[in-house]
This record gives sequence, C-alpha cells and structure tokens, in this order.
Amino acid sequence: MYLTLLGTGCPSVDYKRCGSSNLVSTRHTKLLIDCGSGVTQRLNQAKVSSANIDALILTHLHSDHVVDLYQLIISSWHSYRIKPWKIYGPKGTKKFVKKIMDAWSDERKQRISYEARSSVKAFDIKIAEFNKFGSISFEDIKVKYFEVDHKPVKYAYGFSFYNKSKKLTISGDTRPCENLIKYAQNSDVLLHEVYVEGEIKEINKMRTKKTLHNVQKYHTSSSQVGKVALLSKCKKLVLTHFVPTKFNISRLRKIVKKDFGRNPIIGHDLLKIKI
Ligand SMILES: [Zn+2]
Ligand SMILES: [Zn+2]
Repeated sequence: MYLTLLGTGCPSVDYKRCGSSNLVSTRHTKLLIDCGSGVTQRLNQAKVSSANIDALILTHLHSDHVVDLYQLIISSWHSYRIKPWKIYGPKGTKKFVKKIMDAWSDERKQRISYEARSSVKAFDIKIAEFNKFGSISFEDIKVKYFEVDHKPVKYAYGFSFYNKSKKLTISGDTRPCENLIKYAQNSDVLLHEVYVEGEIKEINKMRTKKTLHNVQKYHTSSSQVGKVALLSKCKKLVLTHFVPTKFNISRLRKIVKKDFGRNPIIGHDLLKIKI
C-alpha cells in the first residue's frame, strides 16, 4: 500500500503546499482522501488519472478539504472517466454535493450537449454518509472510519486503512482526542495534522489574538502531536496540514522528536511512502 501526499497545506495559498488531499493506493485500488485546492494538478504530477479513482473519502466539509470537488469531477470526465463517482463523507455530504452540482448544472448541460462525449457516467455520483464509526471494504483495502474532535465542526473523521498486514491511519483535522489514539494503535504509519506553534506572530485587524487562539485550539499543536504519536504506538509519524505553511523545519522536527522519541517525517507535496 502507498500513501501519496497531494496537498500538505492549509487554507492559506502556497504553491508548494496545496490544499489538503492524500492518495491511498495499491495496484488494484485508488482512494482519494479529500480534494482541497490544487488536487487535480497534484494528481496529474503524481501520474494518476482522476478517471481511475475508486472512491473519494472526505474527512470533513471545511473548504480547504473540499473546494476542488467540481474541478475533480469535471476533469475526470475530460480524462475519459466512464464510471460513476463514489463519495463517502460526513453527514451533510449529500446536501453539499447536490448544491455544488446544482450551481454548475447550466454550464454542465451546455458542455455535455456541445462536447458530445460518449459517456456522462462521471456525473453520476453515489454518496454514502458516515455513522459514528464503521468500515468500508474495497478490493484489497479495508477502511475504518471514526470520529475525531474538530469542534465546532460537528462531523469530522479520521481513517485507518488496512492492506495485507499493514495499517495506515490518517488523523483528519483534529485536536488531540482519545478516539484517534484508540484507532491509530500500532499503525505502521500515522499521518497527522499539525499547527506549528510560534510561527504566526502577526496580529492585525483581520487576524486577532483570538483568531490565532481559536485556530490553534481545534488543531493539534507541535507540542502535542509527538505525544499523540507516542500514545498511538505508531511506527512512523508523518506530519501534514501545516498551519502556517512556512515554518522552521528543524525546530519542528526537534520539538516533536523530544516527545515521540523518533524523528517525524515532515511531509511535502508529492511525497510517496510505501507502507
Ligand atoms: Zn478543518
Ligand atoms: Zn483543514
């Protein structure tokens, strides 16, 4: 099983760190986790066609994780996708996808009739919404989903992926929470989000002290993520979803190593890890 980091950034624009997205793949299965800004360009760089993705699985409905949804679907059609999309996501995903597709329905109708392509299956979207926890089976990957704590976001999830005897856990966006530690136990790889403390200093009218405090509070900070990883007993910790996107890499590595006992891998866009 492979994990490809497609976007390791956050809502702020940084051409080196796109919006949140990851690919979990084997020879038989390709699962896309989130579709933040730049996902189709990164898939293209990773030489993966959106025509061949088996399912899109959403952690939560924050814009930095879903903003390129329509671009993903329309570009999969342009890449000759001839099968429906399967989307798995939190409660609210059906309504969200319907609204996006409705907003673009006039342009889509015009394209479909004018471009006269042989299949419109890419626009057939099947959606399943998560319960509190559960599992989804694909050809050779089993996914367990579980709730994480990203309040005030009501529905936010993390995932564990199983293939052969290997286990990968993706935290999604979360503050430290017991459920994540429970589900991440003994993962070969734990891909975890991080808020890098002390890197955003500028306070102005738009970004107040309260803004910074609140943003940090619903994420996992650099002084917490190593402790979470240690408690999860994961073999490898990979960091992603960097807030902010520019920071002192060696300082972050040092802080996390102090708690985790081992060096974390500082993720970057298009990093591919074999699990
Ligand atoms: Zn979020
Ligand atoms: Zn996010």
